Amino acid sequence: MLSSLSPLTQLSRRLLRPSLLRPCLLRPSPLGCPSLPPSRPLSSPPSIWDPLDITHILSNNREWVARKKKEDPGYFTRLNSSQKPKYLLIGCSDSRVGAQEIMGLDQGELFIHRNIANQVLNSDLSVLSVLYYGVMELGVEDIFVLGHYNCGGIRAATGSKDLGMIEHWLRNIRDVARLHNDELSVIKDPEERHRRLVELNVQEQCVNLFGNAIIQQAQSERGRPRVHGMVYDIGTGELKHLDIDFKKVLKKYRDIYAVHDFSKHRPKEIGGKGGGKGGVEAEEIRRAFDEVDDSSRGWITKGELQVALGRFGDEPSDERLDEAFRAVGMPDADRVDARAFDSLVRVFTKAEGEVLVVVSVPGDNAIPFKCGGTDTVGDIKEALSEARGGTLKPSQMELLHDGKVLRDEATLEDCGLETFAEIEQRVVITPDQFSVKGGR
Ligand SMILES: [Zn+2]
Repeated sequence: MLSSLSPLTQLSRRLLRPSLLRPCLLRPSPLGCPSLPPSRPLSSPPSIWDPLDITHILSNNREWVARKKKEDPGYFTRLNSSQKPKYLLIGCSDSRVGAQEIMGLDQGELFIHRNIANQVLNSDLSVLSVLYYGVMELGVEDIFVLGHYNCGGIRAATGSKDLGMIEHWLRNIRDVARLHNDELSVIKDPEERHRRLVELNVQEQCVNLFGNAIIQQAQSERGRPRVHGMVYDIGTGELKHLDIDFKKVLKKYRDIYAVHDFSKHRPKEIGGKGGGKGGVEAEEIRRAFDEVDDSSRGWITKGELQVALGRFGDEPSDERLDEAFRAVGMPDADRVDARAFDSLVRVFTKAEGEVLVVVSVPGDNAIPFKCGGTDTVGDIKEALSEARGGTLKPSQMELLHDGKVLRDEATLEDCGLETFAEIEQRVVITPDQFSVKGGR
């Protein structure tokens, strides 16, 4: 938060408080104030050598240490050994937003970077260093960008006054306002407009994180960190988790910012539709299926399947299992054939943002593979052909969705089959939907 007073003026006013001008009278010492020059008359202007009375701060500290030790004798020894925070917070420098306190977190739980209006700029060596150390060395799992309403930085950036050096920093917020001008310009109430810009600024800094190479590298390698946008209301003390559809935002900018290959590591999904479980490898799931079918009877029941998958997180719901059974071409079965295990593994390791394509041919196991929204129908046909060992040429296939033949040059995105949320609309190619030229 910026004050209308310059920092130097504020400092001068604080130093001019009468109690601070007579430190030796307030704190008599046999040595006087040896580290300081002789006291000056009250009427003299402030000097950087004027002593500051921090008695209360030191006293507060002693009380805090005593309280912590009483509550937990090993507290400081433990903290001193190392730090392993789960979260990295990027917040505003505002003195009224004490991140740890408002989140109810203790020392050691939050790695923190603060600047005016919680900016994530790719030219800011400070935030980049914090990101690198926090993500690559400390291995934080989640990053919070924390903005706050009534933010002086945001207010200053919406004014038309040149604030000198700081104007260069605020310029980034003006860019956020420009990006979202269509939305902001129709908000008549200035306060409402301010609050919305605070939220949009948080959103844009989150997008900056997603576009950052350090973050992308970690996300592609280990499926973390996740990024969250939050806003604190100084007037009420309430913290709000912003409901930002990052998938939608990133879809728009993915081709511009992506510098790492996310196919190396993709978040895995086991249970419901939301979020990935992270780190579960296809081989692990396959092994779990084989263990259940240890007598090689050739199948496992739906209930057994549910328990087997439960090893990797939440057990999938009945609906999710039904969906998976449909995907491998067994819509009405209550048990799954061992020959379809690999297909089922692919269903349950399906990554976010991917559409599952399943080909069912009589007598064959289903052949599923994954594709993204920018793949064309032609690309998919080629991949299908390859998966089938070339027994069907791309030109021998027609892919359909909702009963309509999809054009080769259309991307899945064009066909409305891009996002994870739309996964229900998966393309299922069944034998009767193939247009096999030349017979088979
Ligand atoms: Zn602020």
